[in-house]
Amino acid sequence: MDGASSYDVVVVGAGPAGSSAAYSAARGGAKVAFLEREGSVAATVRTSGVTWMDAIREFGITGDCYHPIRNYAFFSPNNEVTVRDAEPRAAVLNVRKTYRLLAGRAQDAGAELFTGTNVTGAMTGGTAIAGVHAVAKDGMKDFVAKVVVDASGFQSVVARGVPGIKRWGMFGVGAEWEAEAENVDEDTWWLLVGSEYSPAGYAWVFPLGGNTVRIGVGIAKPASTQDPAEKLQQLIEHRPGPLSRLGKISPTEFHYGLIPNEGVSRKSVHDGMIMAGDSAGQANPLVLEGIRYAIRYGLAAGSTAARAAQSGDATEPAMRHYEESWRKEIASKIRTALRVQERWLGLDDAGWDAELDIMREFSADEFLDFVKADFGLGYIARMAVSHPRTAVNQLGRLVRDSLRRR
Ligand SMILES: Cc1cc2nc3c(=O)[nH]c(=O)nc-3n(C[C@H](O)[C@H](O)[C@H](O)COP(=O)(O)OP(=O)(O)OC[C@H]3O[C@@H](n4cnc5c(N)ncnc54)[C@H](O)[C@@H]3O)c2cc1C
Repeated sequence: MDGASSYDVVVVGAGPAGSSAAYSAARGGAKVAFLEREGSVAATVRTSGVTWMDAIREFGITGDCYHPIRNYAFFSPNNEVTVRDAEPRAAVLNVRKTYRLLAGRAQDAGAELFTGTNVTGAMTGGTAIAGVHAVAKDGMKDFVAKVVVDASGFQSVVARGVPGIKRWGMFGVGAEWEAEAENVDEDTWWLLVGSEYSPAGYAWVFPLGGNTVRIGVGIAKPASTQDPAEKLQQLIEHRPGPLSRLGKISPTEFHYGLIPNEGVSRKSVHDGMIMAGDSAGQANPLVLEGIRYAIRYGLAAGSTAARAAQSGDATEPAMRHYEESWRKEIASKIRTALRVQERWLGLDDAGWDAELDIMREFSADEFLDFVKADFGLGYIARMAVSHPRTAVNQLGRLVRDSLRRR
């Protein structure tokens, strides 16, 4: 054992949630360590990196970190629709650059980054979390903390030792190649649905500028037992449907990851600990996107942790406002998105062909609100006025009923 170091706030993980938590905790005046098991931040990429231009502006992501997207194509076995927009409102991130930008900001704010530091579990004082045990480059190391922020993503390495927190039973698994392709429409992302592309989920092609794309397959568990890497290999080899339009595909870097898909089932605050990002289940299940939530609630978790550490009260009641506030913002949206996802998982190929006819009627605004799961009563009202008697109302009804059940 290489002795223990003491901090106000120890953040586990230097993904978007962890680096954001470390930044805001350090800005809040706390002595902060953030611990990353990999040898460098984002050494391994486990995400496709699609996000939204409003989030990019909100978090000050610099222009060299993303490629803008303004058209959204959907393909089913026998149907195809492209929603076109006048300006880019989505973007594909250079994930490594973005995550390193966030980690660098945390370090500039005074947080100490420990890479190559694998957290193995929590130190406890009574029922409270009091720090973490880790295996570092130079041996075992303990980090004592007034507050631990668990931002270790799907693994939830600290939280999984807390009574009442169960392993994720429902989750998504994705496999992706970053690749060079011969013919790429740089402005348009593709989502491909139906059994040929994914048995329970979807495949995607996300352009990164020039001839570079990310081609991937996501599969919901336990809905299907198939490994997405296997399905992806088939797609790259046989290039069914629109994939043939890409011409020759030359893979360059493989990505593989897991994301919780269970909605907001976990309590995210305990004595001495806060969870943020995937460890708290803060992701939009419709298209399995969580980066913007990880950053937003990472920032909130870090500020809450710093205040709790300084006040000397890091009990659950003292930090509960963090949980109340993120739930108020996104819990009902996530619940509603899960209901739409349930409908989508039940569609066969013919059902998907029909679903695309519904999407054809969406304006770009409606489509983007939908995939972002930005559902609210305003959204329902707008949809009812724009599509008073069409099939779009089936989806509208599903969303409306789900929101009413809150
Ligand atoms: C295939 C796939 C595609 C996706 N595509 C998108 C997308 O296009 N857009 C989008 O918004 N979201 C997407 N997501 C979801 C998104 O990646 C997550 O919501 C987001 O990464 C959550 O951020 P996080 O910081 O909570 O966790 P992570 O990004 O998982 O970061 C956790 C960090 O903790 C570190 N860590 C883990 N265990 C330990 C430990 N024991 N000790 C120390 N460090 C540890 C990890 O190495 C990692 O750096 C996708 C997910 C998958 C699986």
